[in-house]
Amino acid sequence: MCRTANGFDINGFGQLKDGRGNICPMTIILPTIAMEAKTEYVGDEEGLINYFLSKLDEVIHDTKDGLLERFEYICSQSPESAKFMYENGTMEGYIPEEGIRSALKHGTLAIGQLGLAECLQILIGCDHCEPKGMEVAKRIEQLYKDRCAEFKEQYKLNFGVYYTPAENLCFTAMKKFQEQYGIIPNVSDKKFFTNSMHVPVWKNVTCIEKIDIESQLTGYSSAGSITYVELPGSVKHNPKALETIINYAMDKDIPYFAINIPIDMCMDCGYSDEMNDTCPECGGHHIQMLRRVTGYLTGSYKDAFNEGKQQEVEMRVKHSNVQN
Ligand SMILES: [Zn+2]
Repeated sequence: MCRTANGFDINGFGQLKDGRGNICPMTIILPTIAMEAKTEYVGDEEGLINYFLSKLDEVIHDTKDGLLERFEYICSQSPESAKFMYENGTMEGYIPEEGIRSALKHGTLAIGQLGLAECLQILIGCDHCEPKGMEVAKRIEQLYKDRCAEFKEQYKLNFGVYYTPAENLCFTAMKKFQEQYGIIPNVSDKKFFTNSMHVPVWKNVTCIEKIDIESQLTGYSSAGSITYVELPGSVKHNPKALETIINYAMDKDIPYFAINIPIDMCMDCGYSDEMNDTCPECGGHHIQMLRRVTGYLTGSYKDAFNEGKQQEVEMRVKHSNVQN
């Protein structure tokens, strides 16, 4: 399932979920802005943070302009270009005489982000797993949230803060960053930027700690976010532990919580569990590795994702050190 969410519709549908959608998203690469700020600014850390926020504010405004342009372009299309969307109530609110804008105005214009963790490393030398990093993270997310609320009122369109999946951008943005700034420890020493405001995948934190950290930021997002924890396949023998984790996430107000468990299947005998390259049942090597890499289940992530995302998956640690 996709992490996209519909916030409150300013054009009359309120919290209606069905028949609306994410019309256009754009993602801001936070580490690049942080590097630009750091290169340009001379002064102390608080000054740098403020300078960064003012630059980010400009980029958020540019992003808004870009989204409006795209929205207008999409609205200028004929309903015939995607006929099914305007039939059978797929898109709520469609009034033929008014054009497709009548339906699309209920959707979301999403302002996304990539690499909060690396951005914080550049600015202050730690990420939001530390209290100091979390403080700055909240200032960044508050800026996003405030601007989206203002744009929503001003343009009567549903701007929202989006914690972008960035399946491909995590890699392509990093490649560009490395070409410009080289390898910086904790920032660009990998092939991918960390997903949205997630805790970096290689950090040794428990499920509870991961939920504690990310739940402090999920509330800033109205256009969608996901929090996932990685657990070993063996957790299926421990439903009590699963229940504890899920209840904890719900108590912490995580809007969309996911537990990732590897499901590997032997294509020779059908045996299913977490395996490496050999089936413990029949010794076969024809193993399909089903993984939830982003929102969706993916057969063989090796084929489905670029090398940045593959490395990200391989660097994921299990958050399993919970009490059973
Ligand atoms: Zn087998």
